Amino acid sequence: MTTLTIITGDQLSPGLSALKAMERGKDHVLMAELCDEVRYVRHHLKKIVLIFSAMRHFAEELQAAGHCVHYHRFDPDASIRSFSDAVAAHCQRHAIDEVVVTRPGEWRVFDEFNKLEKSLGIPVRMLEDDRFVSTPGEFADWAEGRKSLRMEFFYRLMRKRTGLLMDQQGEPEGGQWNFDADNRRKWKGSPESASPMSFVPDDITREVIALVSSSIDGFGELDGFDFGVTRAQARRALAHFVRTGLAWFGDYQDALPDDEDYRFHSRLSAYLNIGLLDPLEVCEAVEGAWRSGEVPLNAAEGYIRQIIGWREFVRGIYWLKMPDYADGNHLAGDQPLPAWYWTGETGMRCLERAIGNTRRNAYAHHIQRLMVTGNFALLLGVRPREVCEWYLAVYADAYEWVELPNTLGMVMFGDGGLLASKPYAASGKYIQRMGDHCANCKYNVAERTADDACPFNALYWDFLMRNEKKLGGNPRMRMMYRNVERLEPAEKAAITKRANWIRENVEVL
Ligand SMILES: Cc1cc2nc3c(=O)[nH]c(=O)nc-3n(C[C@H](O)[C@H](O)[C@H](O)COP(=O)(O)OP(=O)(O)OC[C@H]3O[C@@H](n4cnc5c(N)ncnc54)[C@H](O)[C@@H]3O)c2cc1C
Ligand code: SF4
Repeated sequence: MTTLTIITGDQLSPGLSALKAMERGKDHVLMAELCDEVRYVRHHLKKIVLIFSAMRHFAEELQAAGHCVHYHRFDPDASIRSFSDAVAAHCQRHAIDEVVVTRPGEWRVFDEFNKLEKSLGIPVRMLEDDRFVSTPGEFADWAEGRKSLRMEFFYRLMRKRTGLLMDQQGEPEGGQWNFDADNRRKWKGSPESASPMSFVPDDITREVIALVSSSIDGFGELDGFDFGVTRAQARRALAHFVRTGLAWFGDYQDALPDDEDYRFHSRLSAYLNIGLLDPLEVCEAVEGAWRSGEVPLNAAEGYIRQIIGWREFVRGIYWLKMPDYADGNHLAGDQPLPAWYWTGETGMRCLERAIGNTRRNAYAHHIQRLMVTGNFALLLGVRPREVCEWYLAVYADAYEWVELPNTLGMVMFGDGGLLASKPYAASGKYIQRMGDHCANCKYNVAERTADDACPFNALYWDFLMRNEKKLGGNPRMRMMYRNVERLEPAEKAAITKRANWIRENVEVL
């Protein structure tokens, strides 16, 4: 009996469940650089290079370890365009008795794999992806019967399950589960920032860069590609972050610097999401740094919470609610995404910096994604689908299981509050408080309705007024709505007028 194991571009882990299930040397591994995967959104060019190069390196490692690997290189004119095409072609040439896959990261591919058995007439076995702390089934059990799903409670369960940052009595280290309240500092010029580890492209990566630049019309800049593309490099990037950035991660994780792209963020998500790093090995390295006194507890806890809290939680929501989740539009957004989301050409400094980072690096840190590009799309009332497609395309770490809940749920409140207890709507004041963009902007953050007023301001108040029926009863928004009540009718009218003007002229802001 011969098995065919499919490995997708985000499953580059030697311990992958589908690899463990096969007989090395006898069974076949299939890896393919596919047109459909390249083109279903307009991906950042650096994201495509990262995935293809990491795939090629991984295939070489598997071959060296004795696996029988069949590898399709990208060809824009190839007749094999999808996983189904690649598997069907392979099964025609080889006697395959069973196809084995690990649960893919996107519902679209999950659905495609589920249909394979019928189209091929060969049994297809889908194994759980055990590179996560929890499974979709366990998440569904946890969610069952709960009125609302909150990350914090799920996170505590994950802390207990993994034992991370737990003391010998089974209590959280430091006597608290969450040190987020300590993590809102504005960076004032010191300590010196840390940059993520940068890697010089090797021959394989250079070959992929040439291929991608000549044959794919993607988003963003390809120059300066410096991601690691092997597990060994990703582990070096992890060690580098723990040594240079982690200590300050907690304090400044919400900061919005005008002159830097990363500050103390790790840029590890791109490695985690394609399997070059394992989430638990990352958390253990972070915990180890705290236990040996190298970093404070708020930094270690803050970082670990992002991984075993948010990362696991959004994945749970994704598999619990897909495929209908993608259609959510609770706040009835109906505006198009401004064209400058793709070019970065806007006079709003915070947006120009966030989109510039995105174009250059296939990266923006969480607060840029949530409180700058995300917040603006929410306040403007953009159609969630367009926003989701943008986020899925432009980041090197973007796969739908993690991108969609963050965008549709956290940013756009499109799921009506399943993931977040209230929309993360904020005026320009928040952006001013967290960084130094506003000092460099042509708009005046202190103004609400004047001609040069920061567009976030009128849009923020207009957002609250427009959505009062849906959001006014939310206990976490009581303060905001009390402030709306205090507005004079003339001020409300001026806000509506300015917000309408912004919507009509958004392309030239
Ligand atoms: C609108 C929006 C879209 C996003 N899309 C993605 C995406 O496609 N892929 C993705 O990995 N993350 C996404 N995130 C979450 C988060 O912004 C990124 O994980 C983070 O910016 C990656 O950079 P980093 O590795 O430097 O993270 P750090 O700031 O160093 O954080 C550490 C790690 O925690 C994890 N993490 C932190 N926050 C989240 C979160 N909210 N959800 C899941 N994991 C989290 C990531 O693995 C990250 O590497 C999105 C957030 C928003 C608001
Ligand atoms: S003034 Fe407004 S648009 Fe300009 S940087 Fe500040 S928040 Fe952004």
